[in-house]
Amino acid sequence: MASASMQGKVALVTGATSGIGAATAEALAERGAHVLVAGRDAARGEHVVGAIRERGGRAGFVSADLRDATAVRRLALDALGLAGGRVDVLVNNAGVYPFGPTKDTEESLFDAVYALNVKAPFYLVAELAPGMAERGGGAIVNVSTIAAALGFSGMALYGSSKAALNLLTKAWAAEYGPRGVRVNAVQVGPTRTETTAQAEEELRSLAAQAPAGRPASAAEIAAAIVYLADDEASFVQGAVLPVDGGRTAV
Ligand code: NAP
Repeated sequence: MASASMQGKVALVTGATSGIGAATAEALAERGAHVLVAGRDAARGEHVVGAIRERGGRAGFVSADLRDATAVRRLALDALGLAGGRVDVLVNNAGVYPFGPTKDTEESLFDAVYALNVKAPFYLVAELAPGMAERGGGAIVNVSTIAAALGFSGMALYGSSKAALNLLTKAWAAEYGPRGVRVNAVQVGPTRTETTAQAEEELRSLAAQAPAGRPASAAEIAAAIVYLADDEASFVQGAVLPVDGGRTAV
């Protein structure tokens, strides 16, 4: 049984209808947080919410397509409305990771990847971090990737978008840290989720390059996100934590 260390806190998790986000929503709820599960797919969202409630947790679904800033701002307002005007923890997890050669990358794909992976976290933080600062505390965790730190052929678009998120993590730690808001990131290695399981061979061969030699489970990544979100990480600020089976260490 997890401790109830996040009792009374409200956590908004984007991309929580699947994979790492769903596992994070469940793990935050286990610690007592009231979790707002964000995504586009209401059926998958309600499934995650139902599983949390079945175990006695508090959760609600908020629908948003996060590719435009207006929808991002609306999500922030909806989340504040649903949870009594406060969001204490924001997990910027929603992301897409299409791979392919730079020369074949259409402008529309470039814009879609940067919209979800960079612009959405940017405007969610713009909307929610000031309220956290006014209340004297909060935690933001950004979900990044080893492709932001290493050069992988075929991952230029994706990796560069998450490299922007790594830098934003540090810039926001400088901007909001002095007012009690901790901002950190997890830099994730190959992880088995609904999406990556569809390319099992690629997942395994990428994972084989790391000391751990296997893909992570979504729950293993969620555990690191929850650590950074919770007060036990009270002196951890602006960190980009590799959670990658050792891949970026060797
Ligand atoms: P996933 O299973 O594909 O889930 C992606 C989530 O993002 C879903 O909940 C999806 O919800 C949401 N989403 C997608 N497009 C959206 C949009 N336009 N607006 C709002 N939400 C949207 O992903 P995952 O594998 O768990 O990955 C989660 C995060 O970890 C991503 O940021 C990814 O880059 C990062 N990461 C993953 C791995 C890995 O190996 N899995 C490795 C490194 C980093 P809806 O479909 O309901 O909208």
